[in-house]
Amino acid sequence: MITMALSKGRIFEETLPLLRAAGIEVQEDPETSRKLILPTNRGDVRVVLVRATDVPTYVQYGGADLGVAGKDVLLEHGSSGLVQPLDLKIARCRLSVAVRDDFDYAAAVKQGSRIRVATKYTQVAREHFADKGVHVDLIKLYGSMELAPLTGLADAIVDLVSTGSTLKANHLVEVETIMPISARLVVNQTALKTKVERIGPLIQAFESAIAP
Ligand code: ATP
Ligand code: MG
Repeated sequence: MITMALSKGRIFEETLPLLRAAGIEVQEDPETSRKLILPTNRGDVRVVLVRATDVPTYVQYGGADLGVAGKDVLLEHGSSGLVQPLDLKIARCRLSVAVRDDFDYAAAVKQGSRIRVATKYTQVAREHFADKGVHVDLIKLYGSMELAPLTGLADAIVDLVSTGSTLKANHLVEVETIMPISARLVVNQTALKTKVERIGPLIQAFESAIAP
């Protein structure tokens, strides 16, 4: 059996065409079904639904043989025990710094200064500001990052941005792009060796189906 970990929502939706290209049809819709293990048309392949941030954990410890996870999630989790053979070029967005539209970011990040940053991505944020020579006080949040600069919890946030409409609706502006983000195929290092005859062709089918 091959077990693939996916998260509900955009990762699931955008992985479906890639699975289809590999001849795999998922037989339940996660939006209407309460099942967490979804069978496919292939008796030897199943999909398990986990939180986006839990995908690398499932794959690392062999709860799933492979999965799809955002680069943002992988950077925070680390890649121990994981192989990342493909950038699937789905769930594309960017990791950015944003502040209140009346905040002077340029002045706040002058060399040697100190800034308060709220984010779910503390690892990436720590590295980003260290590279700039800016001292940073990091505040870990799990959601609604946009609220932090509005309430005085932080000067800035590091968060995912796609259209920028959520920032705009909250009077925030994107002042720096840290990196582009897309979802990656992740494979358990051991499974890649022991189940290569089944996982290998799957990787190849996915690779052929990636949008240019
Ligand atoms: P939840 O929304 O359930 O709290 P989550 O935010 O981790 O969990 P998603 O919103 O489905 O889950 O995001 C999953 C992945 O999709 C993220 O890790 C990121 O790589 C990518 N992503 C997040 N937001 C966007 C977006 N607005 N546009 C494109 N891709 C995105
Ligand atoms: Mg989300």
